[in-house]
Amino acid sequence: MSDRHIVYISVGSNLGDRLQNCRQGIIALTRCGGSRILAQSRIYMTEPVDYEDQDWFINMAVKLETTKDPFELLDTIKSVQRAAGRKRDKIRFGPRVLDLDIIFFDDLVLDSDRLVVPHPRMHQRRFVLKPICDIDPTIIHPIFKKDMQSLLDGLGKDEQRVIEYQ
Ligand code: ADP
Ligand code: MG
Repeated sequence: MSDRHIVYISVGSNLGDRLQNCRQGIIALTRCGGSRILAQSRIYMTEPVDYEDQDWFINMAVKLETTKDPFELLDTIKSVQRAAGRKRDKIRFGPRVLDLDIIFFDDLVLDSDRLVVPHPRMHQRRFVLKPICDIDPTIIHPIFKKDMQSLLDGLGKDEQRVIEYQ
């Protein structure tokens, strides 16, 4: 592996000042050192999917260049989430102050207890695919060998409302 990696991260919040939490979270990722932001998506309001009895999320995606390895980046993400005030989740897929998920790490395919890359549910989630398409709709999923636009187009039309913020 080279020293520099291209990473896509999905950013979300549905508790407190959701937009501020996302923005601060992105800044905090770079403050930890070794990473810089190359691109950022538009901002979306998104309907909760797996656990629906909660507020809508603010979601976006960022493209980072990082010198961290995947597990170092995961540790960084977890410390940023903790610093934002995220407690241990009571409900899986439930409300959270800040959620940072590693969607892609170069072309890496990894399945370990702590980290699965590409993110195992990304291809089913409009709130992940739509922002990533803002940055680059031509990225090829390293397992499915389909680009982001095709994965987005393949989702059911009426499911998972995603509305551009403002
Ligand atoms: P989700 O984002 O799917 O709702 P959580 O944010 O609660 O789930 O994360 C639960 C665990 O998922 C984390 O502790 C982390 O170790 C693990 N995990 C596995 N793969 C990833 C990934 N690609 N990005 C972020 N966390 C991951
Ligand atoms: Mg997460």
